[in-house]
Order: sequence, then structure tokens, then C-alpha cells
Amino acid sequence: MDLRTRILVVEDDHSVRNLITTTLKIHDYSYATAATGAQAIAAAASQNPDIILLDLGLPDMDGSEVIRKVRSWSNLPIIIISARSEDSDKITALDAGADDYLTKPFSVAELLARIRATERRLAASRDPRGEAEFHNGPLCIRYASEQVEVQGESVHLTPIEYRLLTTLARNLDRVLTHSFLISQIWGASSESNMASLRVYMTTLRRKLEKAGAAGLIETHVGVGYCMIRSADPENH
Ligand code: CA
Repeated sequence: MDLRTRILVVEDDHSVRNLITTTLKIHDYSYATAATGAQAIAAAASQNPDIILLDLGLPDMDGSEVIRKVRSWSNLPIIIISARSEDSDKITALDAGADDYLTKPFSVAELLARIRATERRLAASRDPRGEAEFHNGPLCIRYASEQVEVQGESVHLTPIEYRLLTTLARNLDRVLTHSFLISQIWGASSESNMASLRVYMTTLRRKLEKAGAAGLIETHVGVGYCMIRSADPENH
């Protein structure tokens, strides 16, 4: 039985597809390829990949359409690959259920880092233990008591800051769009909520940084936010 991670590469551009498949081969991933949306949907259904790498600009349909189709039966991780000119499409794709994105041109190191982060998330979601606590470097969240600690010291958060933090923590290494976060915190999306989100994110970060947990929340300009895994050795 092949235990390697199976990756479906969906890309119509020959040179990009070759770069990706060569990288995957060198790093001992198993892969299949598709050059159109229709092929991608068929391959996702028949070949049971672990991860899909999906170009957004496909000849026969929009990549977001592929995501919506695949999401109708599967939660498998989808990493989108988009050109900078496709920024609004990128947000649509994340809201349609994509997990992460790479912007062209990307480096091989970036590609591999995204795949590894996705593999860690897959492994965590297969872990049957319920998580009463969340640990990431100096940060600890105790869900039952709604306590947040940094380096063992309690940090006081407002209810909205706490919800923001737990939403980011539950989706570690995953980019969450502004509208997703707003829907999680306030329900509906609006311009004033967008401004509030920015304010709460600033105060949340300031509190974490002051307590000694700086740099855990990344800003993806024009897209949203992502909590990254701490490089801190006490992380487990
Ligand atoms: Ca393309």
C-alpha cells in the first residue's frame, strides 16, 4: 500500500505543471495531473487524492467552480494557485472552501511549506483525541474555562477578541478571509464590521505581543489573517 501523500495537480500551464510535478517527484510525493476543470473534478472523484493543488485560471471553468463541486462531497484540502491579477478570485475561492493559496510566481520552498502545513492539519484532524487545550509556542488556550495564557501568565481578552483568537487557532496554518472571520464573529458581513475586525485584530495582537507571543498572527493584505505555527521549541 502506498502511504505517500497523494496530490492532484490542476494546472493548464505546462511549465508551471512541470515545475510542480518535478518538485513532488523529488520529494517523494505521489501525484496525478489535470489540465482542465472537468478533468480535475473527475480525478478528484475517482483517484481520492489527499490534497488538491488548483490553478484558478483554467481553460474550461473558473477554479472556484471546481472547489464548489468538490466541496459538495469532500472536505479534502485544496491549495489554490493564482496569479496576482486574480486577487478577487482568490478571495472567492477561499470563501468557496479553499484552504490556502500560493501566488504566482512562487518558489519551490513555498510550495513544499504549504504542502507540509496541509499534511500537519490532515494529521491533526485524524487525531481522535478531543482537544481541551490548544498549544502553540508560548500561547495556551483552555477552552473549558475560556482562559488564555502566554508563557504561563493569564491574558485578559474581551469576548470578541477571544472568539477571533479561537477561530484562528482552530484553523491553524489556514488563511481565513475577512468575510469568513466576520461571519464567525458577527454573522453577517458589512463595511462597518470590516473596520471593527481590523480594530479587534489590532488589540488582540497588541495583547499577545505584550505578553510575549508576537508574530503568531499573519496579515494577508487584502485577503485576511492566518495563525501560524510557532517556531518556539516549547511548541507541541
Ligand atoms: Ca492557468
